[in-house]
Order: sequence, then C-alpha cells, then structure tokens
Amino acid sequence: MEKPVPRPNADSAPFWEGCAAHEFRFQRCRDCGKAQFYPRAVCSHCQGRDLEWLVSAGKGAVYSVTTVYRGPSAAFKDVTPYQVALVDMDEGFRFMANVRGGEAEIGTRVRVIYEERGDQTIPQVEIGG
Ligand SMILES: [Zn+2]
Repeated sequence: MEKPVPRPNADSAPFWEGCAAHEFRFQRCRDCGKAQFYPRAVCSHCQGRDLEWLVSAGKGAVYSVTTVYRGPSAAFKDVTPYQVALVDMDEGFRFMANVRGGEAEIGTRVRVIYEERGDQTIPQVEIGG
C-alpha cells in the first residue's frame, strides 16, 4: 500500500507546482494584506478576490503538536509513531505538516523540507530554523 498523494485543483495547483520546485508558496490578499493558507479563490479574512502568490522563507514556530501512534492506513505502519504539527509561519499563516528530525513542542522553531511521494512533492517540517 502506498501513502496517499494530493490531487491539485485549480486553486491549489500553483502551490503544488511550487512544492515541486521546493518553493513554499502562499497567498496574500491585496485588499486586506493578510496571508492565507490553504489556497482558495477568495480571501478567508475579507472575501476579497485580489489574491497574490508569494514564496515563504519556509520558517515558523510550532503552534500545536500531537503524536500519531496509529496511522491513517497500513502505508504509515513503518513510520509510526510520528508527530503532526500546526505551524505558524513567519509570514502570518498556519499550516499542518509532519515533523521530522526530532521531537517538537509548542514554540519549537521548524523549517520546511520536502518529501518526494509518487508524482507529488509533500511539504513537511524539520526541527531548526
Ligand atoms: Zn482580504
């Protein structure tokens, strides 16, 4: 069994194309100036439609973290237990990722790394940054 891979849609395709190039792209609203993640057609803060794509420096701090002892499918059996974190990125948005390279706790600084999985590139985080 293989781990699942994301299937980009019209809103998320620029993000996944960025991951393939090891660029962590996110959207920022030109109307209210706020960043958002995940990618959407409208701003989640003001419903504006004038969104621009920017490239994150790929660094942030753990907002919350949990340990997964039983993965979502048998494909994860060899990697459990592992941590999943919500990360507050320095550019002002939050995203969820697996933690690599050590144990994270709230406030731990992390940086984005990439895992090649099937025909997609998956962003994850490692300790440091
Ligand atoms: Zn907005």
